[in-house]
Amino acid sequence: MKEIKVTTKEKLQILDITEEIEETISGVNEGVVVAYVPHTTAAITIQEHDTELWEDLLNAYQKLVPIKGNYKHNAKYSGMPSEQNAHSHILSSMIKPFILIPVVNDQLQLGTWQKILFIELDGGRHRTVKLLTISKGDEKP
Ligand code: ZN
Repeated sequence: MKEIKVTTKEKLQILDITEEIEETISGVNEGVVVAYVPHTTAAITIQEHDTELWEDLLNAYQKLVPIKGNYKHNAKYSGMPSEQNAHSHILSSMIKPFILIPVVNDQLQLGTWQKILFIELDGGRHRTVKLLTISKGDEKP
């Protein structure tokens, strides 16, 4: 299994990781790549590379699940500033920590406007994205 490293700086931040993922794929005639975020306070999705849209997304996330709220998780860890992050756990579970993308001849089969976006929900942190390529079994030599 391959992986890529992501470093975030903001509490909520979106990063385009399409090229990093594409560079890891080789020898796949037909298959899929699973991109998996092994974190409970981050997520991954497919959307346009449009930084204004990214601001809209982050604003919408914060309206749906405000950072400050009456969260039991935050109350339970009230003495721990790093654990005042129920919002990020909730958003991670809503957005999801994995995506699946078809691959043909080592090319991600993304639509014209589709990019793979890492979504930081409790940064800044050092993050990992795990990548598993599943091929139909007729790989090129
Ligand atoms: Zn937490």
